[in-house]
Amino acid sequence: MHYVSTRGAAPRLDFEQVTLAGLAADGGLYVPESWPSFSRDEIAALAGLSYVETAVRVMRPFVGDALGEDDLRALCTQAYGRFAHLAVTPLAQLDERHWLLELFHGPTLAFKDVALQLLGLLFERFLSSRDTHLTVIGATSGDTGSAAIDALAGRAKVDIFMLHPHGRVSDVQRRQMTTVRAPNVHNIAVEGTFDDAQALVKAMFADAGFAGRFSLSAVNSINWARLMAQIVYYFYAAVRLGAPERPVAFAVPTGNFGDVFAGYVAAKMGLPIAKLIVATNVNDILHRALSAGDYSAGTVTPTATPSMDIQVSSNFERLLFDLDPEAVPDQMAAFARDKAMRLTERQRAGAASLFSSARIDADEMALAMRWACDGSGQILDPHTAVGLAAARAAQLPQDVPIVTLATAHPAKFRDAVERATGVRPSLPSRVGALFEREEKFDVLPAELNPVMTYIAERATPRA
Ligand SMILES: *Cc1c(COP(=O)(O)O)cnc(C)c1O
Repeated sequence: MHYVSTRGAAPRLDFEQVTLAGLAADGGLYVPESWPSFSRDEIAALAGLSYVETAVRVMRPFVGDALGEDDLRALCTQAYGRFAHLAVTPLAQLDERHWLLELFHGPTLAFKDVALQLLGLLFERFLSSRDTHLTVIGATSGDTGSAAIDALAGRAKVDIFMLHPHGRVSDVQRRQMTTVRAPNVHNIAVEGTFDDAQALVKAMFADAGFAGRFSLSAVNSINWARLMAQIVYYFYAAVRLGAPERPVAFAVPTGNFGDVFAGYVAAKMGLPIAKLIVATNVNDILHRALSAGDYSAGTVTPTATPSMDIQVSSNFERLLFDLDPEAVPDQMAAFARDKAMRLTERQRAGAASLFSSARIDADEMALAMRWACDGSGQILDPHTAVGLAAARAAQLPQDVPIVTLATAHPAKFRDAVERATGVRPSLPSRVGALFEREEKFDVLPAELNPVMTYIAERATPRA
């Protein structure tokens, strides 16, 4: 299996290279050259398999020759052994047709653990045989940072520099990042929004001088291996609800379009998905893009769902490329220039056949939280509630089960949950004494030079 850039002007890479590379040299994102496909029988054969075994079967074609099947199984066993539930990503039932897919049983209580626990091990594995020291630079609105730091803290040959928007992540999220005391972990609070932080990361990757001095890598969902790991739970859940005989719909609380793009890949591989419902909060660039073809960035409005407070959705480029590749370089150039561009007719028609979308405001989010609490005793985090509100508004045949991806544990967003439901969820014991540990981070302006200098002073240059 080889990987190509969405902008068409970067080298073709294998799985090991694409895992270590992150963003492509031409500014694009790596995607597989072609989609592996599973027959109905192969999908039916996933019934009853453990999460690890499902993961091995689903990911094997993407890994190619980079890892043997036994090695892949050993890494998955180690990564998912750290989850606090034997089913790793269990389903919970809300009513006769609505289900939750609980993706938050990992060490940092957010779905990002599913991919990042594996990515940390892949990094270590691939670096062990190379004379390379990796400098991971990422931007986070909260959950990516804590999951990435947990996955990489103390690992050999990797430094991680994590940028978060100063004062815009929850206390729990910030402490999960800033209380990790490992010499290879560096937290930077940027005086700006998540989009500012993400733009800084992209600018550093694009700076030839800087990128030439260090072996840079990404842990944001621009990293292909992360998306790959997320394809697994679409198969795992759908098979338990009747696939391949019965199609299943998924509602996905969406920010950077990574999680829902993994669902798109599952559909391309043959999983019968009736609909992918893209749920946004009032920062609705994806809802406007999917419903009206208008991909234009506004200003970010802070909400109770910070992981979705973005106006630039990096992974959307992967979908646009899959639907109409020739159009992408010009569209991305237009977006870089004007902060706006339009989808082509082919892209709109292609997206409409699988996706629907909804923009969920604060009242609708709170209503969904109360509906789940009153109807089934389930306490949802705000992101999950945005997804559920979109799921309940979707127009689908009554016999199609709708699975809402539960992307965070409610205790990560205790204040918002308490406001909506009156219940204050307690932190699971596995996150430890977060509020007693000392924090460490540095505050920097949202400007390229100070951030680049800070990192250059602390990172290990290329050999
Ligand atoms: C990251 C995150 C999202 C958004 O996922 P994307 O892959 O960026 O679309 C939604 N909810 C939570 C809790 C998250 O951490």
